[in-house]
Amino acid sequence: MSDAQVQAPTERSSTIPVGVLAERSEEKLRIEWSDGHTSVYEFAYLRAHCPCQGCSEGEGQSPSVSDGDVGVAAVSMVGSSALLIAYDDGHDGGIYTFQFLRSICPCGDHEAEAT
Ligand SMILES: [Zn+2]
Ligand SMILES: [Zn+2]
Repeated sequence: MSDAQVQAPTERSSTIPVGVLAERSEEKLRIEWSDGHTSVYEFAYLRAHCPCQGCSEGEGQSPSVSDGDVGVAAVSMVGSSALLIAYDDGHDGGIYTFQFLRSICPCGDHEAEAT
C-alpha cells in the first residue's frame, strides 16, 4: 500500500478547456475555459484558421477554403491538449491545440493580453 500522492498540476493556465461543445444547429463551436472565459467559434472561422500544413502553405491561393458554408463532421480530442476537427467538405487534417484556439478567440476581449 502506497501513500504516494500525485500532485495535480496547479498551473493556472487559461488554455485548459473545461467544456467543448459543437453546436451544429448554430454552426458554432463553444469552448469553456478553466478561467471562466467562453469562446465561440463559427465553423467557417475555424475552417479559415485551419493550422494544417496544407492550409497554412496555401498562401494567397487558399486552395481548400470553401465559401463559408462549411459544417463540422466530427470533433475529437487529440491527447489532452488539442482537438481534431473534421469538416463536412472532406477536410479533416486540422489539429487545433487549445493554446492556438485560445489565441484565435474571436470575442475581441484579448487585445490587452497580446505580448
Ligand atoms: Zn487544413
Ligand atoms: Zn475570448
